[in-house]
Amino acid sequence: MSAKQTLRTCIGCRQVVNKNQLIRIIQVNGELIIDHKNLLGSRGANLHQSLECLNWAIKTKAFHKALKLSGALNTSQVLNEFSSEVP
Ligand SMILES: [Zn+2]
Repeated sequence: MSAKQTLRTCIGCRQVVNKNQLIRIIQVNGELIIDHKNLLGSRGANLHQSLECLNWAIKTKAFHKALKLSGALNTSQVLNEFSSEVP
């Protein structure tokens, strides 16, 4: 196995893990969306797919830092997806 490991930091819990354990979140017009297919080339934030990490990230304004945003962020879509996908 020679697949190289790419490490990323979860912006919620700040753990550094292999990036395939994290999902990528981007923003479009102030709305956070999950970049499932890694298609959109814009700046992304890496996060565990866990409500806990998501809430941490929201609380600490980590999205604003990671995505270089200021102002209001609509997190409802991501929250919905996380809530429905958590087993
Ligand atoms: Zn995390």
